[in-house]
Amino acid sequence: MEQIEAVADMIVESKKIVVFTGAGFSTESGVPDFRSPGGVWDTFDPNELNYQNFLSSEEIRGKYWRMHKMMWETIREAKPNAGHYAVTELHNMGKLDCVVTQNTDGLHQKAGVPDDKVLELHGTMQWVDCLECGQRYPRGDVHDKMLAGESVPRCDSCSGLLKPATVAFGQMMPQRETRESEVRSSSCDLFLAAGSSLVVYPAAQMPVIAKRSGARLVIFNLTPTPHDHHADIVINEKTGETLSRIVARAKEKLQA
Ligand code: ZN
Repeated sequence: MEQIEAVADMIVESKKIVVFTGAGFSTESGVPDFRSPGGVWDTFDPNELNYQNFLSSEEIRGKYWRMHKMMWETIREAKPNAGHYAVTELHNMGKLDCVVTQNTDGLHQKAGVPDDKVLELHGTMQWVDCLECGQRYPRGDVHDKMLAGESVPRCDSCSGLLKPATVAFGQMMPQRETRESEVRSSSCDLFLAAGSSLVVYPAAQMPVIAKRSGARLVIFNLTPTPHDHHADIVINEKTGETLSRIVARAKEKLQA
């Protein structure tokens, strides 16, 4: 396919690649898009489970944790797919500046991208934070507390409220990650957006920032996005398989 050759050439020519991933990037790992029909939002009401209600109501906290228990049971066994490994390969080739992701499943790190190269715009399900003292717990440990009967788990050190380290509705986006993503997007030479419908702020503006700053932009998504007209190349195929073929081709070209 002509587009595969063209994107492989772009990778060969670039030095600082930002890879941006959304829910569609993890569906090939069996991680559902939790916002799509059939997801947890069919069972739970996202408006009710907002951050303010979480802080003020024990009943809402109970529901919130029930929802996150379901999500954790879905994602904890999830394995990185070909797309995640292709991104790791870009890192190994010295081409990756960073990954910016809307996903909270931790699969980029599981695939071997170092933690400090992954900017998680919506937080992570891999950790749980104490809202009082800031103590951080591995998600699996808190899951065990729930299995032992705590329906609303509390901090071991200070008994404060615990909350998954994901961004809830009504909760502020993480400032460092958001700012850092903007900076990296504006200084990369190639921006690969993969598996995101690019409609949610601040995700949607990153490809635009990159393009305006002179980077080349490639959008991989099964369906069209509102930013396709900014892109140098748009590929409406399964993201994991396609990216994997492209990175393999780029390696061949570099070794030739
Ligand atoms: Zn605490």
